[in-house]
Formats: sequence, structure tokens, C-alpha cells
Amino acid sequence: MAPSLTRLDETTIAEIAAGEVISRPARVVSELLDNALDAGASRIDVAVDGDGTERIRVEDDGHGLSREDATLAVERHTTSKLPADASDALTAVSTLGFRGEALAAICDCATVELVTNDGDAVGTKLRVEDGEATVSDAARGQGTTITVTDLFADRPARRESLAGPAAEFGRISDRVAAYALARPEVRFSLGHDGTTTFTTTGNGPRDALLGVYDADLARQATVVEHATDIDTAEGTGSLDLRGILAYPSVTRASREHVRVAVDGRPVADSGLRRAVIDGYDSLLAGDDYPVAAIDVRPPADAVDPNVHPAKQAVGLRYREAIEAAVETAVGDALATADARRTEAAATDLTTELDSVDRSDPFADLRVIGSFRELYLLCEDDDQLLVVDQHAAHERVNYERLQAAVGDDAVPTATLEPPESVSVSPAAASLAEAHADLLDSLGFGIEAFGGGTLRVSAVPAPFGRTADAAALRATLDGIAADETPDDPRDALLAELACQPSLKAGDSLSTDDAERLLDRLGECEQPFACPHGRPTVCSIDEATLAAGFDRGSTRFD
Ligand code: ADP
Ligand code: MG
Repeated sequence: MAPSLTRLDETTIAEIAAGEVISRPARVVSELLDNALDAGASRIDVAVDGDGTERIRVEDDGHGLSREDATLAVERHTTSKLPADASDALTAVSTLGFRGEALAAICDCATVELVTNDGDAVGTKLRVEDGEATVSDAARGQGTTITVTDLFADRPARRESLAGPAAEFGRISDRVAAYALARPEVRFSLGHDGTTTFTTTGNGPRDALLGVYDADLARQATVVEHATDIDTAEGTGSLDLRGILAYPSVTRASREHVRVAVDGRPVADSGLRRAVIDGYDSLLAGDDYPVAAIDVRPPADAVDPNVHPAKQAVGLRYREAIEAAVETAVGDALATADARRTEAAATDLTTELDSVDRSDPFADLRVIGSFRELYLLCEDDDQLLVVDQHAAHERVNYERLQAAVGDDAVPTATLEPPESVSVSPAAASLAEAHADLLDSLGFGIEAFGGGTLRVSAVPAPFGRTADAAALRATLDGIAADETPDDPRDALLAELACQPSLKAGDSLSTDDAERLLDRLGECEQPFACPHGRPTVCSIDEATLAAGFDRGSTRFD
């Protein structure tokens, strides 16, 4: 049964964060989606014509409204989501809406037709045009359809400020995608000018990612569900985090593909977004951003939804602790996820990638050969794993080097006499700027100047001694990458690369097994320090499908 509507009292109204509610078509869509989700919809269909001012229609299968409530709903400050005297309860709302002003605001600047049924034999059609409401019977099953036409028809300035159909629809599409990812248990569809743009199935985050992006990306992602405690005023409170993280091998050039929701409400929160990106940490190269969608559920007293007129931000108490918890959860999820990339051809999307026991991800693996002196082939139950030996060795070296630098224990080899290395001007100034760092990495550099470095010691971290030329390659590599975010990390990654196995280095089976043992001990075994994958897997079913075998066994 639908809860019935009341009008908020003046004290409560005064508490509400005021501001313009409807500034562009995407805002109409957000408000209507909030309402559909608050009505408990399991399916929401959005249709848009042109830039959205022509027509926006949102249809849901939620609880619907009685005729009496429908007429109240379009008035200002009427809501079913708060008691009339709710001024104390504003921070405790669990619904997306709570101010009772969205429908009224939309009716102010558009023509609205609301067709709804709360389970009665006959539904209600309410049409609001130029402030006049007309009510009639309507045939409709339970749920609500709201159609908004002629948005801003009598506000030419507002219309002028819109960015054109492609850009406005782009914003709408981004909004619907954000909701679809924040509420992966709800089926969403979005259509534009009669064509379906995307749909999701309501079957969880991987399917939502598949709908919003594509099958390839959905396959290369790990689902995260994590509960943790944070310190609060009452002692501790629980923070839940759910969502999906694309592997670091999937990147985008902007941070927009990192989507964050708080209590199921999509928000533009740069702090939480940064925490997710930081969780990917060294797995991403310089300017790359990940694709991720998470929903954070902080302790109840931590969230204030009433800070932004368009509800696009929430106030967060304990922000620092929440951001730290998000960063850790993302980092852990990526480290424990089976970030092996699965061969693209014939993967069953419904099977989740198993997470790997951290203690020995490659324990049951048998090396069966090598391909082109670069890839190790290994059998792991019903999977054929292909390991890039260079990428794997780089990861191992990188983590060892990190540990050695942390312990001030990088072994070095003295060059007698010192060697002169000529480098580009950019590399020379980089070396000078990071002299301490180079020193801590085991390079002894006596003089910088004139594009020449006098090198008296080099690191000898892994049995192989880096030669002075490796320093040039390392510095040039980093200098070419313009300004790395974290020069220290970039140096470590480059340095790890120098003594790593190359294509053409053939390995004995014993060496290959040792490499995999070391890789298994790494904190992040599935990506090299530059963010490329170390392991791909092809499951037996893929091979069976390729050979037209009905089954994967011999029966
Ligand atoms: P709020 O969501 O803040 O309560 P709105 O103006 O958005 O304010 O909506 C007013 C009321 O109309 C809601 O409280 C709800 O009871 C009702 N309503 C709006 N849209 C729907 C819908 N799609 N399904 C059911 N009820 C709805
Ligand atoms: Mg609302």
C-alpha cells in the first residue's frame, strides 16, 4: 500500500536546503527517477525526445498513488516520505526524495501528465497545464507514468542556456547510467527519439555494467561487497560498500567513469571518487582513470542528505574515515580479485570470476610449456593460464624494490672508475630534482651537469646489476612521460623493468615455477607496475566451443 501524503509544516519547510530544483532536462529525469525508486519500482523505463524539453517520460511499476494523493502530490511541500513536523528527522531520511517540491517545480515550468494506479480497478490521469489540473479515469496497471512536455516553454532564457540535444541527452544518459549502476537490482531502460540507448536486467552489478558499457568491459571487472567498522561519535559504526570495479587494464581518460552513490543515491562527491581512484593506486598509469561504480552505506548518523538543493551531494560526518575505508576496500578487492583476464571469445557472463585465495593464487598451477619465449603456458584446473613472463617479472621486481627502498637495503655495485652517462636535458634535470630518490634506489651520482651524469654506483637488486646505461634508459623513459604524478613510483617501475626478463629470454621449467611462486607472493600479482595484466586465462569451455564440442569432458 502506498503511504499517504501530508503537507510539511512551516518549520520543516524552513529547514529544507532551498535552491532552484529544475535547471535543465537532466534534473527532471533525476527527480522522476528518485520518485520511481522511492515507490519501490523494480523496473523503470525512461524515454526522451530531442534535448528533453520536447518530452521526458518515466514509467515505473512502483506502488502508485490513489486519486486523492495524486492531486496532492503535484502541490508544493506535499510528501509521503516525512511526517508533517519532520524538522528533526531530516538527516534520518532513507528515501531519495523528502522535500515534496520536485513535482510542483516541474509543473511550474512544463506540462505534466501523471497516470497512476495504486492497485485499484481504475487508475487516475492527472494533467497539469498552466497551473490547471484536470483529473480523469485511466486504464493502467499498478505503477506510475509521468510525461513531461514543453519544458521551459515560457522560459526563453532557460531554453537558451541549454547546450543542444546531443549534450543535454548526454547528461540525461549519464544520470540514468548512474542510477542503473547505483541500483543494479532494478531494471532500467533508456530510449532517445524512439531508439533504445541502453537497458539493464536488474540482475546485479555485472549486468548493470554490461548494459551501460559492453560485454567486454563487464567481463573484465570484479564485484565488491565489503563491510567494515569506522570510528564514530558512538564508538564504532558499520560501513558497507557494494559495487563493481573494472580491472586496471580497462582505463578511461577522465574520472567521470568512477561513479559513487551514498545510500543508493548517486552523488557528485569528489572526495569519495578520489578515494576509489586511490584504491587503484599503482595499478594505473599516469593519466588513466578506472571504470568503477560503488554504493557506500555509512553509519546512519553519518549522512546528511539535506545539504544540496538538487540532492547531488550529501553531507558526510567522519568523512576522513569513510574515504580511508573506501580506498582500502577498493585496494583489497582488486588485490584479492582474480584479475586474470578471460579470453574474450566465449565466456559465460553469468559466472562470476572466482576470487583467489590470497595465500597462494598460483599454488595448483602446472607449467606445461612456453610460447614464443615470452608467454608461459600453465594448467590450472579447467583453465589454461597464459603468463606474460616480462610483465610478471616486472611486478616481482617492482615489489621487491619497493620493499628494499623501504628498508634502505637496495644492494649496490660500485663502478670503478665512475662511468659518464650522457642524458637529455630533461632527464638531467629530472635526475637532479630527484637526487635523493636516486640515491635511495642505489644510484651513486657524483655530478650532474652539461647533460652528463657521473655514476659511481648502480643498484644490483636482483642478481642482475643495472648498468649505467640503464639509468639513462630509466630517466629518458620517465622524462618522455612528461610529468609523472608520482616520480618516485615511476622511477621504481622503470627500474623494475630494466632487469626484468625480456621476450626471447628462455626459462627452464624450474625458473618458470619460481617466477610464478614469486608472483604469487606479490601484493598485486595480476598487473605489472605499468598497469598491464600479467596473466590471461582461457577456460576449457572456450576451447570446447571453438572445437564444436558439446561438452568439456570426454564423455
Ligand atoms: P518528494 O519525493 O520529495 O516527496 P515529490 O514532489 O517528488 O516530492 O513527490 C511528491 C509525492 O508524490 C511523493 O512523496 C510521493 O508520495 C508521490 N510520488 C511522486 N512520484 C511518484 C511515483 N512515481 N510513484 C508513486 N508516488 C509518487
Ligand atoms: Mg521526489
